[in-house]
Amino acid sequence: MNAEIISVGTELLLGNIVNTDARDLAVALSELGINVYWQTVVGDNPERLSAALEIARERADLIVTTGGLGPTCDDLTKQTIADFFGAELYFDRRAETELREFFAGREMTDNNLRQCWLPVGCTPFYNTCGTAPGCGFRAGDGTVVMMLPGPPKELKAMLDHGGQDFLRSLSGSQIWSHNIMTFGMGESAIEDKLRERMNALKNPTLAPYAKEGEVRLRVTARASGREAAEMLMAPVIGEVRAVLGDIIYGIDVPSLEAVVLRELRARNQTFAAAESCTGGLIAKRFTDLPGASAVFRGGVTVYTNEAKMKLLGLDPALLETHGAVSRPVAEALARSVRETLGADYGIGVTGLAGPDGDGLHPVGTVFVGLASAQSVEVWALSLGERSDRARIRALAANHAFDLLRRKLTGLPLL
Ligand code: ATP
Repeated sequence: MNAEIISVGTELLLGNIVNTDARDLAVALSELGINVYWQTVVGDNPERLSAALEIARERADLIVTTGGLGPTCDDLTKQTIADFFGAELYFDRRAETELREFFAGREMTDNNLRQCWLPVGCTPFYNTCGTAPGCGFRAGDGTVVMMLPGPPKELKAMLDHGGQDFLRSLSGSQIWSHNIMTFGMGESAIEDKLRERMNALKNPTLAPYAKEGEVRLRVTARASGREAAEMLMAPVIGEVRAVLGDIIYGIDVPSLEAVVLRELRARNQTFAAAESCTGGLIAKRFTDLPGASAVFRGGVTVYTNEAKMKLLGLDPALLETHGAVSRPVAEALARSVRETLGADYGIGVTGLAGPDGDGLHPVGTVFVGLASAQSVEVWALSLGERSDRARIRALAANHAFDLLRRKLTGLPLL
């Protein structure tokens, strides 16, 4: 099944807001095995929306619109679609009841009731966090049309509550997938190793997605049921494991830090972090995880030399002799934060995130120290002179988590 997404909204056209709905929707559709071949953005204008629908119905089996379902006069998606496909509208009583409950205790203006009109024969998607219901229906010409609200939170909730089930019901077979999460090898190197397999595979398919030094390989199978899909996917996952080895940090796990959390919990151990160039990113990402308090003793952002000396007692002579961006300073940070906070492991990160250099090291030079009760090890990383600040910091945090993961699970440290 081929889909076209039509995002309705003048503010999207003018660049006032970013079209995150199209992104979220495209991800959701592709995860269900629906090919998204086109995305269109059109303003709040019935003629131009009709023109976009005319093009879309020629080339797509499924048209999904976002936005323009609200109560105001520029919310014209539903009426325009109904007119275009010759669909009659009916007044949905449940939508009305839910709307009145939403406004309980507050005044509801009559224009809100416009939202309760839906195409006859449609599958309504009631809005769990806003007012406008969405819906899906098959038009007279066979085109399947789905209308979803613009606010991103409402759109995502509606996909979870009704939208995805509607999409699944369109096809006889269903889609299942697994994500193989890797860190430590670039997308092109991974593709080079797996290209032939990726090209040869039809069901399941294998596709890479890259983000901040990580590559996610998605295995997707189409089958009549879950068990059959798992049987198709298992050998492919096994093959990928054999080729990529320990750069795979998990299957269907959300992030490197989530693996670190799991491994520390399993061992009843803790870590602490002293961060210079990452500015607290390691602590932030780790404490985003529920349950972090069981294993994270805390972190310090020691950005200046003064902070390194005052908060972690670094020796002024050490900083003077080697400079802040150096192996001995990463080592001292890791050791000191571990001891100061009484953790099993200490991480110390110092580096140059740029864009200005220090005249000694290229931008992207980062040292990560990892201290345990037995030893302190330091890795020198070159994260790319052409990388921007945000990327260098994100990569440095990724490396720190990966080193801890490797240490905890007894893997060789890269
Ligand atoms: P409402 O009930 O709020 O009127 P709606 O379905 O009519 O919902 P719009 O009026 O088109 O949606 O958009 C409401 C808000 O949702 C916009 O102001 C914008 O903040 C956000 N929004 C709309 N479309 C998108 C989009 N494609 N991507 C991201 N945000 C969007």
